[in-house]
Amino acid sequence: ADADDPLLRVRNLEKTFGGITAVDGATFDVERGTITGLIGPNGAGKSTTFDLVTGVQTPDSGQVVFDGTDITGWRPHRAANRGLVRTFQIARELDEMTVLENAMLAPRGQVGEKLWRAVLPGARSAVVRQEEQLREQAWETLEFLELDHLAEEYAGALSGGQRKLLELARVLMIEPEMILLDEPLAGVNPTLEEKLLDRLHALREDGYTFLLVEHDMDVIMNHCEPVIVLHQGEVLVEGSPEQVQNDDRVLEAYLGG
Ligand code: ADP
Ligand code: MG
Repeated sequence: ADADDPLLRVRNLEKTFGGITAVDGATFDVERGTITGLIGPNGAGKSTTFDLVTGVQTPDSGQVVFDGTDITGWRPHRAANRGLVRTFQIARELDEMTVLENAMLAPRGQVGEKLWRAVLPGARSAVVRQEEQLREQAWETLEFLELDHLAEEYAGALSGGQRKLLELARVLMIEPEMILLDEPLAGVNPTLEEKLLDRLHALREDGYTFLLVEHDMDVIMNHCEPVIVLHQGEVLVEGSPEQVQNDDRVLEAYLGG
């Protein structure tokens, strides 16, 4: 794929549940190295769009092209292997594992493919080495997010904000190119919010691309560029934060038009 091409191209995505059309022709691009905001009133189809893009759900029609590859309908692990992930809430079952163990668990699906080596001579030491590398990478990731002092705590003991950081740590372990974040700041205190946003910018400068759903307009206006407004399952407006903020159609959509 050309480096100037958008990293993600979404074309005419549609998804209907029973009689409800959740996503109704959504079409947009995400450029490389951006923190693109995706906003819209409740029920606009933001979360469903995320699910369709990352393969959690299959679209009824439309196309998702990531880095030049048509990934429409790919299952999440396959999209992740290609470099596209979304964060997931940490399942309750993982509360009784430590923060470090949670971070190490994340890329197992990716590592698993290489386990065929286990049947070869010398494989035991290779597996041990892999485990050590994984542990080292997990430590580095926790350090980067300033979670390392909590490495031996149970995930269940984390605050809401720390849990959000751990969700981010888990997707970073996969070393993706693009991360979709669905309300990553919900329930996060201002100190941790600042930290998380600061880390997102650091990652962006490192070449990561983000698509961010967020309710807090201050966050969208100060940290996202461009901003895409979804309304009734399709893109209503797209532009700079200022353009979107000053667009009457956006105001109307939020007022329930
Ligand atoms: P948003 O994240 O923007 O709030 P969603 O994508 O969650 O919007 O939902 C869009 C619309 O689709 C809503 O009307 C919602 O009720 C409906 N919807 C989403 N998921 C389902 C589902 N699994 N079954 C039925 N309706 C759904
Ligand atoms: Mg949602």
